[in-house]
Amino acid sequence: MDFPNSICYLNGEWLPLAQAKVSVLDRGFIFGDGIYEVVPVYYRQPFRFEQHLARFERSAREIGLANPLDRAGWRAVVDGLVSRLGEEHQFVYWQVTRGVAKRDFAFPPHATPTVFAMTSAFVRPSREQREGGLAAVTRADERWLRCDIKSVSLLGAVLARQYAAEQGADEVVQFRDGFLTEGSSSNVWAVRGGTVIAPPRDRLILEGIRYGLITELCAKLGIPFEARRLSQAEVAGADELMLTSATREVLPIVRLDGQPVGSGRPGPVYAKLRAGYDQAIEALRR
Ligand code: PMP
Repeated sequence: MDFPNSICYLNGEWLPLAQAKVSVLDRGFIFGDGIYEVVPVYYRQPFRFEQHLARFERSAREIGLANPLDRAGWRAVVDGLVSRLGEEHQFVYWQVTRGVAKRDFAFPPHATPTVFAMTSAFVRPSREQREGGLAAVTRADERWLRCDIKSVSLLGAVLARQYAAEQGADEVVQFRDGFLTEGSSSNVWAVRGGTVIAPPRDRLILEGIRYGLITELCAKLGIPFEARRLSQAEVAGADELMLTSATREVLPIVRLDGQPVGSGRPGPVYAKLRAGYDQAIEALRR
């Protein structure tokens, strides 16, 4: 397989992606025993890097994995990738697994974590997506109970996204016991009566770095924000729905299960948050 323009970092080495090889006994391969991050880079500068690093450190702690690099070490990996690819906008992916060991479920006593990072040119959401919005479908959340950990064990997310893809939708909106959790790889937001509402930051969702950003933007723009449980009926009847993620930024969901959301067009609260998001990105331009 050919990977154009691809440089990566593997266990201390810089090399073309096609040459990066990991043992079949790597616990990431065998068990999905690892964690990851995806950091957007604008104007060659990682956006909210400290927050991504803090989330990564938390994921590492939660799975009992010693973080193999300190903050300066991670920064050097990210900067090294960004300067080698050279593109203005990129997204950097990094992951650490518990390393290579004889196949046994319990932690290996002496394995060295596998450290891998790569970057790609970031094609920001298109005008069509921003102005036309996305279609989503609802689905029961069948993932595990520690969705707060950014784990490479992503089968639940894979099956959820495939369900959306098979229906020609862009994302799933998942519900656990009838209450909103999140998308397959995004946080989901509802707007009702001018208030932005999102599920609380608990173990049932990943706290996106954009979760913090959107709440900050709401405070700055004078938009009321509430973190609370949202029933499926409240989501279906919302004035606006949005999703956020590193690669999709903030986008409106205008159709849910084939029905229009609110007016069926991107709404006014989305427009304000979108503008605030763009402004935060433009602040990185030098
Ligand atoms: N939830 C899940 C399950 C995700 O995979 C992602 C994407 N990383 C998010 C939420 C959004 O997080 P972020 O804003 O940090 O991209």
